Amino acid sequence: MVEPHHTPVMVGEVLSALDVRSGGCYIDCTVGEGGHSAEIEAAAEPPPSVLGLDVDEQALSTARRRLGSDSILVRGSYRELKRLAEINGFMPADGVLFDLGLSSLQVESGARGFSFLRPGPLDMRFDSGQELTAHHIVNEYGEEDLANLIYRLGEERRSRRIARAIVRSRPIEDTAELAEVVRRSMGRQPRRHTHPATRTFQAIRMETNAELEAIEQGVQGAIEVLRPGGRLAVISYHSLEDRLVKRLLARESASCICPPRAPACACGHRPTVRLINRRVIKPSRAEVETNPRSRSAKLRVAERIEG
Ligand code: SAH
Repeated sequence: MVEPHHTPVMVGEVLSALDVRSGGCYIDCTVGEGGHSAEIEAAAEPPPSVLGLDVDEQALSTARRRLGSDSILVRGSYRELKRLAEINGFMPADGVLFDLGLSSLQVESGARGFSFLRPGPLDMRFDSGQELTAHHIVNEYGEEDLANLIYRLGEERRSRRIARAIVRSRPIEDTAELAEVVRRSMGRQPRRHTHPATRTFQAIRMETNAELEAIEQGVQGAIEVLRPGGRLAVISYHSLEDRLVKRLLARESASCICPPRAPACACGHRPTVRLINRRVIKPSRAEVETNPRSRSAKLRVAERIEG
């Protein structure tokens, strides 16, 4: 048995959100080490088949050893979900899952550069074949662009001060150095729960991987590949992700998207999904105690409708 590093989050909730059935076909857009996919396979007899996507080859190699022969694992981005589902015969699908964020395998490896707690190169790419790295953003972006992205993607109020400190400290070569530059730029802080570089690291990681754009394309693609009655489940890990997912699903489930003050509906919009839970689903207290990574998880579920 292969020992994965990563414990999948909200497994029971995900299985019931996807309404997993024997012989069904499910797409796991962020298969990682295959935690959720293995649970989907085990949830019904004969086992459902899973198409698992990930851009991270290292994660896929663990998933490959864990999953059954009816499942297909593909190195590819969920930005191309529709094309990948089509060529692998997973269209229409009975369910599509996104487990956003990063896996424990990625956080725990200093060499990937995701964590300020582990010294490593400024990499932060999910897909190591991609050209843009955190090193380029940190060392080459203009001060104003840096400040804006730290503000927008990190929701960091001290973005200008941090951007100035980064530009003055160039070249910055590794995660420990970046974390220290950010910490020093903040001056004396009231005791905080989180490391002062948390938000800046999040912002740079999201920029490196164009994460918000990817999520938007992925969710849109998921709606297109689902059969009517098929389920979409998305787990997000911070407020920017969750707000985006909430907004996309609100729009897709609305029968009218005219501006609020429009005198009469002129949009001709047709809803494509129905929301299954209006309120977001969170992990149980017991799960948060045993798996701290689940602490910030939020699950949203929608069902594809005819149309
Ligand atoms: N559910 C998995 C863990 C997923 S962690 C498990 O139980 O093992 C999130 C995964 O999404 C990471 O492995 C990351 O490489 C992957 N990922 C990030 N962006 C992606 C993209 N655009 N397309 C496909 N996978 C992506």
